Amino acid sequence: MQTSKLAVIIPCYNEELCISATVKRLLEVLDDLTIKNKITPDSYLYLIDDGSSDTTWEIIETLHTKTPDRVKAAKFVRNYGNQKALIAGLEGVRNLGCDCVVSIDADLQQDENSIEKFIDEYKNGYDVVLGVRNDRKTDSMFKKTTALMFYKLMNTFGVKIPVNHSDYRLVSKKALKIMEQYSERDLFLRGFFHDIGLKTTTVNFDVKPRFAGVSKFNFVRLLGLALNGITSYSIVPLRIISGLGFFMALFAFLIGVETVIEKLVFNNSPNGVATAIILLCFFGGLQIFCLGIIGEYVGQVYREVKSRPRYITEKELI
Ligand code: UDP
Ligand code: MG
Repeated sequence: MQTSKLAVIIPCYNEELCISATVKRLLEVLDDLTIKNKITPDSYLYLIDDGSSDTTWEIIETLHTKTPDRVKAAKFVRNYGNQKALIAGLEGVRNLGCDCVVSIDADLQQDENSIEKFIDEYKNGYDVVLGVRNDRKTDSMFKKTTALMFYKLMNTFGVKIPVNHSDYRLVSKKALKIMEQYSERDLFLRGFFHDIGLKTTTVNFDVKPRFAGVSKFNFVRLLGLALNGITSYSIVPLRIISGLGFFMALFAFLIGVETVIEKLVFNNSPNGVATAIILLCFFGGLQIFCLGIIGEYVGQVYREVKSRPRYITEKELI
């Protein structure tokens, strides 16, 4: 297979402490791969500034001025979140042109040396190469637990994503082309690349501690991502609710039968105020919870139906 043009997309949100070192290191990786004749010399980086409020964009502009052909960038008008930044990156490089694209975090937590393995797998004919982290040694206990809950929640609710794959992956031009047909506003990338069913493989990589700065992901954001993933790719929760409704009705029916029998056979009318209150609260709570789940789906429909733009780009350096 001939050498391929590689684009590397990097979402950046308030990464002024990392971004220069990250770009320098990734350019070295590109140089190395070019020397090994695995990628073409016109391969490039594409940074997406997700509405940073620090000097990230100024630093990116300077980096672009130094090597305009190799460092390209776009800036959002505001913070849209890392998924939107990744989507903008994929769409940006699709327009600029490339054979394959790797997405990597700006803090270089993911081992950048694995990009070579990604390329090797791409050359072996894979269209999607997913980076899977070896372990979570560098994560705090809280992060470990929430991350594990995230994958468990997704898999329980029928969203098939590989465990410990974050958004470090390579996708081919073919996958980018298919993405063009998906007009969903809240595209959940991990679900999407699994769903399209192209030839997929995984590459294991090591995770390093964050190079500088702090994590932008907290529990609420992760929960938001999980809810978007589930409501985008699975209706299992709705089915569970239907099942729950059925069993609740069955339960009420049996209790009713039991009460009638007690009255007729034993002439014993049960005095169950406490039981009634407990059951009332329990089923009341359960109903509101189920309504909330249905509400998540209605919310998803609401957002999609309005089909507002996924993001607004303020500036582009290409
Ligand atoms: N990020 C982003 N927009 C956000 C939050 C994060 O573009 O609203 C970027 C961030 O700059 C980084 C990547 O997404 O490149 C992953 O974020 P982070 O390292 O904070 O998450 P963690 O590794 O802790 O999960
Ligand atoms: Mg990180």
